[in-house]
Amino acid sequence: MDTLDYVEEQQSFLHQLRIDSARKHKRLPATGSCYYCREPLDKALFCDADCRDDYEKTQKAQQRNGRGGV
Ligand SMILES: [Zn+2]
Repeated sequence: MDTLDYVEEQQSFLHQLRIDSARKHKRLPATGSCYYCREPLDKALFCDADCRDDYEKTQKAQQRNGRGGV
């Protein structure tokens, strides 16, 4: 059965995602919800890589408009 492997893979993916998020967004405190879609979360800043990427795109777009950097 590969179910356990799958679960372990998922968990390590989520763990890596949290490390990634923490590293890339050191300034952002965990608010208990996803920064992008407001989904309730435990400690992560984003519920998945898509939200993180979309959030970063939004941030970059705002910086280009001269409204970022807060
Ligand atoms: Zn999200």
